[in-house]
Amino acid sequence: MSEPLAETGAFSEHLSRIGEALDEFLRFERPDPVDHIEQWRSALDRPLPAEGVGAEKTVTELIDVLVANGARISDPRFWGFITTGPTTVPVIAAAAAMVAAPQRYSIHAFNLVEEVSLDWLRDLCGLAPVMKGVYVSGGSVANLVGLAAARQAAFERAGLDPAAGGIDGRPTAIYASAEVHHTVQRSAGVLGLGRAAVRAVPVDDWHRMDTGALRELLEAGRRDGVLPIAVVATAGTTNTGAIDPLRACGELAGEFGAWFHVDGAYGLVGRLDPRVTDRFDGLDLADSVIVDPHKWLAAPVGVAAAFVRDRAILHRAFTQEPADYLEGSFVSGDDIRSSFDSMGIPYGDFAVELSAPARGVIVWAILREQGVAGIRARVMRDNDYARRVARKAAEHPRLESLTEPELSIACIRYVGSDGAGAERLNDLNERLLRRLVRETGYLPSATVVDGAFAIRPCFINPRTTDGHVDGLVDAVVAIGDELTTG
Ligand SMILES: *Cc1c(COP(=O)(O)O)cnc(C)c1O
Repeated sequence: MSEPLAETGAFSEHLSRIGEALDEFLRFERPDPVDHIEQWRSALDRPLPAEGVGAEKTVTELIDVLVANGARISDPRFWGFITTGPTTVPVIAAAAAMVAAPQRYSIHAFNLVEEVSLDWLRDLCGLAPVMKGVYVSGGSVANLVGLAAARQAAFERAGLDPAAGGIDGRPTAIYASAEVHHTVQRSAGVLGLGRAAVRAVPVDDWHRMDTGALRELLEAGRRDGVLPIAVVATAGTTNTGAIDPLRACGELAGEFGAWFHVDGAYGLVGRLDPRVTDRFDGLDLADSVIVDPHKWLAAPVGVAAAFVRDRAILHRAFTQEPADYLEGSFVSGDDIRSSFDSMGIPYGDFAVELSAPARGVIVWAILREQGVAGIRARVMRDNDYARRVARKAAEHPRLESLTEPELSIACIRYVGSDGAGAERLNDLNERLLRRLVRETGYLPSATVVDGAFAIRPCFINPRTTDGHVDGLVDAVVAIGDELTTG
């Protein structure tokens, strides 16, 4: 009898070593990886190994070279883009699933939790109880899934099945605000509608979709014989955290026979803050909604949910041709006596992935650990942080707040005291941000607000404290002062 070629029984030893290394990593006491880039580059950028070094040495290199030089994104002072460091329990859940449920299919506990956690997430986000979901890798794919459903619905009404037969050349349009996430345009490209099919609806002074302008564009499209595919509203824009007027957008979509898609990748969870809950009014009108647990819920990256009113439309949009290796492998009725008598819910036919990790357990773990109360406390604290930064900037003689935060994004800039012109201020703040990133531990990113270059922290990391937040404002002032007097 031959020996197995992979060992069993070594997890506890390796996991305890890697656990120690990760606890140390999260103290962020090491220099920036760029400071000794040559060292780790020469250790890693090597030819394909002809012989293996074995488990012990590989895990040691993982700890000493990779973890030691990992990304600073989990740092509680990283507030760039909209991405965060995952908390402990969901990471452990994801790792456990890789071993105990390498696929979400067939009948087992992780498969059940896939559906249970989608329903929990739906309820957490205040979506209508009829909404059913599917997990995908991120907001990009979730938007693609929602818009594929929109395309399916629009062409079916016109008598075509776009998933089966492709689309014809008729002009189509997706209506979204000028602040929409650029993955919406890419989705339109992938779906054969073309990125140019996305019509940019102007925004108002609060960077929310101007629904008067939306009506005009929809009417113009109707006059021109354009097939309306969807109205896309954003519940928490990536630039400023603005929430489009969902009810008005949804009603217009209904009036013009368009699908109503809500991109809540970042902001949907924000509705847990009672100060802004009513800003999300109109979610009940949505035909599809997306949310990214790997943003505000601090899940490990790689998990988003797309919800639709009726998953049958996803099945029509994403089903595959029959495969010989699948047909006949399962029983057709409900006479289930083995976990392999059924695939369970056919998630593989609701989106673009067949093989996929069991992602539901990540969301299950977060919500089991924190409950609604724990998530609400995080969201409220992050919204407080954005307000705190905005207020400090507004009150400071040499700073300016460029937005009134609705959610957890603040946009501020250094203006100095000599009334510099717009162009000089943009240049000054760009240099200020560069120095902030290079010389301090504070890592916000940038955006442009009405033509003004803004320093933009997005607070979604539950490890951030008010000390970190105040430190950012102080650092902006200190560097700004240096740049203007130096
Ligand atoms: C982040 C984001 C996306 C894209 O999500 P990924 O998970 O990065 O693919 C889409 N829409 C909005 C509003 C976002 O904030």
